[in-house]
Amino acid sequence: MNLHEYQAREILKRHGIPVPDGDVAATPDEVTAIAARLGGRGRVVVKAQVHAGGRGKAGGVKLAATPGEAKAMAQEILGMTIKGLTVHKVLVAPAADIASESYVGIIVDRASQRPVLMVSPAGGIDIEEVAAKTPEKIHRLAIDPRYGLLPHQAQGLAFSLYKDIAQVRAAADIMQKLYAAFTGTGASLAEINPLITTAAGQVLALDAKIVVDDNELDRRPEIAALRDASAEAPSEVQARKAGLTFIKLEGTVGCCVNGAGLAMATMDLVKYYGGEPANFLDIGGSSNPQKVVNALRIITADPNVKAILFNIFGGITRCDDVANGIVQATRQFPLPVPMVIRLTGTNEQEAVQILTQAGFSALTDMDEAVKQAVAKTQGRAA
Ligand code: GDP
Ligand code: MN
Repeated sequence: MNLHEYQAREILKRHGIPVPDGDVAATPDEVTAIAARLGGRGRVVVKAQVHAGGRGKAGGVKLAATPGEAKAMAQEILGMTIKGLTVHKVLVAPAADIASESYVGIIVDRASQRPVLMVSPAGGIDIEEVAAKTPEKIHRLAIDPRYGLLPHQAQGLAFSLYKDIAQVRAAADIMQKLYAAFTGTGASLAEINPLITTAAGQVLALDAKIVVDDNELDRRPEIAALRDASAEAPSEVQARKAGLTFIKLEGTVGCCVNGAGLAMATMDLVKYYGGEPANFLDIGGSSNPQKVVNALRIITADPNVKAILFNIFGGITRCDDVANGIVQATRQFPLPVPMVIRLTGTNEQEAVQILTQAGFSALTDMDEAVKQAVAKTQGRAA
């Protein structure tokens, strides 16, 4: 689950990281009021609150000299789309005077199986770009979760950002507090980009991004309460309500699978045969025709989908329930694209009968089904 910048800033602040004051607004008039209250005589910054980076480049971060100007900026930013997401809220904060911009972030790293702290003096811009063009400017440290981030480790990395010892100490302190925020929220990513120095020499977090591991939400209700469904992809919201595990991807093969492992294997095979999955979707172990109807509704709503692939391995999931779900769905709404169905296992015979009667054919071989589905997205026979 993604947090908004204003929510992440609040969490960093609670952990003692210096962050400029700020308040969030949904209308231009609220922006005027906040700018007048927080800006004093100085400038304010108006920032789009969407779950996307690169807002600055997209015109979603603007400086304003007066509350009136802040209102005008808010009128431009509210309602704009950044990377396909509509801006419903803006953050208004006193503008900081930037002397330098660095990057500090912690991610869960699969390779080292540890949280990895990354810092770079080349902050402000996308860290992916720095990693691609000038990887030597990124310094990494795998953190041993038994001991956490130790002071001397943080200081060592802070020396790669600053020469001034007071700033090194301030940055090291921020890194340790960021690690506390990272573990304290169950995050898979926590980053500050940019971490700035001001003309007066202060070190401040100017932007904050936290992604929380969804599996942590059940035991952290206070974090789960921060979810803003209006800022998420509608298909993912719908899927969560329907009890489906769904992640939207960019490809054209709509996948409907039971079990996360089989769903992963299916996506691998789609790629192996030259296709691209449009989604990860796990209908779960239980077999309920309604789940299949919901899944098909979500998959068919994606205009990128050129073919649908069912891959069901019937264990607890009964193939006939899935078949009934498919038939029910096609009675409720039209399927705009071809469908390839593979099912095997519990009640396979019954399923084949149900599908055949409804005019569908079913395969039992996974390779064959995936090949056919990929071919259909490319407008050819397998
Ligand atoms: P992002 O583009 O989505 O990562 O949004 P950021 O919050 O990182 O802002 C992008 C850029 O806008 C920063 O790297 C800064 O250069 C600039 N910016 C943001 N806040 C301020 C501010 O308070 N003062 C000044 N002068 N620039 C700012
Ligand atoms: Mn940023």
